[in-house]
Amino acid sequence: MIPAALTPPHAAGAVRWQQLWREAVRDPRELLALVGLGDVATGMSEAAGEQFALRVPRGFIARMRHGDASDPLLRQVLPLDEELRPAPGFAIDAVGDSLARAGQGVIRKYRGRALLVATGSCAINCRYCFRRHFPYGDETAAAAGWREAVALIAADPTIDEVILSGGDPWSLSTPKLVELTDALAAIPHLRRLRVHTRLPVVLPERVDDELLAWLGSLPWPVTVVLHANHANEFDAAVDSALAALRGAGVTLLNQAVLLRGVNDSVDALADLSERGFRAGVLPYYLHQLDRVQGAAHFEVDDERARELHRALAARLSGYLVPRLVREVAGDPGKRPL
Ligand SMILES: *Cc1c(COP(=O)(O)O)cnc(C)c1O
Ligand code: SF4
Repeated sequence: MIPAALTPPHAAGAVRWQQLWREAVRDPRELLALVGLGDVATGMSEAAGEQFALRVPRGFIARMRHGDASDPLLRQVLPLDEELRPAPGFAIDAVGDSLARAGQGVIRKYRGRALLVATGSCAINCRYCFRRHFPYGDETAAAAGWREAVALIAADPTIDEVILSGGDPWSLSTPKLVELTDALAAIPHLRRLRVHTRLPVVLPERVDDELLAWLGSLPWPVTVVLHANHANEFDAAVDSALAALRGAGVTLLNQAVLLRGVNDSVDALADLSERGFRAGVLPYYLHQLDRVQGAAHFEVDDERARELHRALAARLSGYLVPRLVREVAGDPGKRPL
């Protein structure tokens, strides 16, 4: 047993985010009651929620507009009837990840980069996510102590960047992340570490002292690619988490998915870039939706996507315009539209 006096100061923080994680709302009826839509027709579907569970942290719910069934944050998480409607061309493996698997939890698609499916867990379940069909189970890099992933990266000197992805890699405990980076630190050809995470946005309490200490200890420049789709996802708690990340020397970028009914207007996209910038985040990618089964109602057609992107470029500083891309299996990188 560790005497109380020796408990590290960050322990309280660790307990805090993990507790908030556990307290996430999983019942669609509770979510609707919390946003004042308890007895309003929203198209909510329990059956869709059985296919892919609802999961959303309470702090994210607090940023939704009360009494608005078309709230852009609510739409990202509420299971709807529309998901169950068959849609030709919307498949289970929409991005060809099962083909690019290089080893347990390792995906090699692009030169120089190894992407680790660090874990299958997320603090939030986004309805448009390909993960709804890939719970991953034990097929993650963290299972079995990262050994296979580390061995693969060590054996391939063309890899100079490791990307932690998932699921959400920051849903792992910090000691588990330390375990990985301690092993990676011995690999001389690594130059950069990247983390793809939505946690600083949906559960900003995750950015605690322990995580910041870890970031500060790493031997490589660190880029964190966040995932926010709408300006309303930012609030004061998110701002302070992002300020703390920048204070730790992290470069902050954002990737968004173009989603019908969420951010498919020039105003919404411009607000997202500007709000992100205020929090120290530059836009990186605006993704065309992966055509995964159950997400067809979010799709914006290519012509409309290009039109929005052109209008955005005509309105904002160049560095506030994300690259509009789509993931195409077999391509050497994300394909610009
Ligand atoms: C998107 C992706 C990357 C990163 O691509 P960038 O264009 O460098 O952001 C790397 N590996 C895989 C498997 C990806 O899907
Ligand atoms: S945070 Fe990312 S990986 Fe997790 S459910 Fe949302 S889109 Fe999918």
